[in-house]
Amino acid sequence: MSELARLRLARASRNWFCDTELATSADSYVRHLSQQGYASGTIDAYLGSVAHFAHWCTRLHIGLAVINEGTVERFLKHLPLCHCAHHCQRWRYSARAALRILLTLLRTEGRIAQKKPSDPATIIEEISRFEHYLKHVCGLRPTTCSVRTQRVRAFLL
Ligand SMILES: [Zn+2]
Repeated sequence: MSELARLRLARASRNWFCDTELATSADSYVRHLSQQGYASGTIDAYLGSVAHFAHWCTRLHIGLAVINEGTVERFLKHLPLCHCAHHCQRWRYSARAALRILLTLLRTEGRIAQKKPSDPATIIEEISRFEHYLKHVCGLRPTTCSVRTQRVRAFLL
């Protein structure tokens, strides 16, 4: 981890990335959020959530190969009961958003398996065309596209 990511972490979670499989993605995570236009405070909060997740995975011996949406859900259930550190990031809303971005980044880097589609092929195709429309015709940011496609998906299913 470089100084870029290291300086953004709170003291309590600063060393949580050390010796974890996610340490090499900390810089690309911060760079990705900056390029997407996230506010500095949001980047700090999200990086704190990812550090907490890395710490939790290490404690439970959860390797990078098995990290997916199910792992994230297990981590989110840990948050209300967490005793990892006094000032660590415990907001479920923030952690969910931060880890959704992390999973996307790890898949882009080819570090974790691609998500297996569970929806019918016709729904996936329709959502894909809608997402293309939002990004390339409407020019919306990825976060906005993600929220809108999730709502349409929920409506269609
Ligand atoms: Zn914890």
